[in-house]
Amino acid sequence: MRQELKPLFDRVVIKELEPDRVRASGLVVPGGSHEAPPQHGIVLAVGSGIDWWESAGVKMPVRPGDHVVFPASAGVWVEVEEERLLVCRVTELLGVLTAVKDCVACADRLLLPGESCDVCGRTGSDVRR
Ligand SMILES: [Zn+2]
Repeated sequence: MRQELKPLFDRVVIKELEPDRVRASGLVVPGGSHEAPPQHGIVLAVGSGIDWWESAGVKMPVRPGDHVVFPASAGVWVEVEEERLLVCRVTELLGVLTAVKDCVACADRLLLPGESCDVCGRTGSDVRR
């Protein structure tokens, strides 16, 4: 019988991305730090949430399929169906990595300081990686 891990409350289940794929996504982990670099993963399952604050309610800010970044110290690694999965609280996540759509008007050129794109609003001072 196949099993799957259903996270409870504000926990999420994450499958770690292969380092190769992280490099392909273009994010560069800065060197020179002795701390373990943040890890990348794909959200597999999301708990139903807890009533964090009156204003925030129980809405979980990530969905299955999201590419998330989390500290190496986050959560607990468990093995389910021979797969190593991370279970952590959603508040431990550092963020969701989203793709930035290249602007058709300015993606292929460098904007000068003070110049801005009429289409996307990007300005010359923006640092692009
Ligand atoms: Zn633009």
